[in-house]
Amino acid sequence: MDKPVKDAGGGSKRGEGKDGKFTVNRRDFLRGVAVVGGAAFLGSPADALASRELTGWPDRVGMLTDLTECVGCRTCESACNAANGLPAPEVPFDEKSVFERKRRPTASAYTVVNRYGNAKGSGNPIYRKVQCNHCEEPSCASACPVRAYTKTPEGPVLYDKDVCFGCRYCMVACPYYAPAYDYESALEPRVVKCTMCHGRIKAGGIPACAGSCPVGAITFGNRTKLLKIARERIRKFPDRYVDQVYGEFEAGGTSWMYLSGIPFGELDFPTNLPRKPIVENTRGFLSAVPLVLTLWPALLGLCYTANRNKEEKG
Ligand code: SF4
Ligand code: SF4
Repeated sequence: MDKPVKDAGGGSKRGEGKDGKFTVNRRDFLRGVAVVGGAAFLGSPADALASRELTGWPDRVGMLTDLTECVGCRTCESACNAANGLPAPEVPFDEKSVFERKRRPTASAYTVVNRYGNAKGSGNPIYRKVQCNHCEEPSCASACPVRAYTKTPEGPVLYDKDVCFGCRYCMVACPYYAPAYDYESALEPRVVKCTMCHGRIKAGGIPACAGSCPVGAITFGNRTKLLKIARERIRKFPDRYVDQVYGEFEAGGTSWMYLSGIPFGELDFPTNLPRKPIVENTRGFLSAVPLVLTLWPALLGLCYTANRNKEEKG
């Protein structure tokens, strides 16, 4: 069964084997290659990011999804498709059979809702909305050799298809498996993901999913204020929530945050992410990667640029 997100490890620290020796799994390996490739191409943005403590843009916004409120109606999915001009889904929005398998965002669905059993015993299932979490220090942006990603001052992480050359390192680097690839446009590479309705936010509006939720499970607002709201809910209703705001610190923090009534690991959230941004965690590993592996992504990027320049001139 496909899972929307996977726990990246088995309880040990990332990169540390049972015997304490340094080990690297395939995902970490590719992530490291991607980041070094980007660094070689651009003059070490990874180092630049890793060498300082970021407090983020002060007025950035965020989203707080309260999983104890969500009823799995998929209105948010429908609103997202409408706002982004996406096609109707394979399984209609009112069809519950869609919950029989776990889904991940795709090129035609930037957000999906999955259903989970509720170990707390109320008998009610738990629904989890999945999309790009708009990281405070996005590893997709750090991994991209051509800087197709931007963390905006408002909070959303945006992708520029006109800059992308299709290497898909961002997909490997994302700890939440959020970016999807549009295979329909093979000649024109395109990664797709949630934009957090950046245009609407800039115009003073709110993201379509938050505006459409009939039970108010998604709250939009200033990230700092959302954190206060989340902590206040946990303080007032300790039996209702686990004592964690997911996204406050994970991988350096995210714009999209969650409250839950059961441990986040039971809902396929990665639970062993570091508190520091992932780009910082790759540093030790990067020094062990042979030079040839660190340079090929950069060479790939240079070839692409050279070819494009040739095409433009010719
Ligand atoms: S969730 Fe993934 S795609 Fe979204 S900003 Fe973070 S690293 Fe990038
Ligand atoms: S619209 Fe609200 S209640 Fe319905 S699935 Fe989305 S988050 Fe859950």
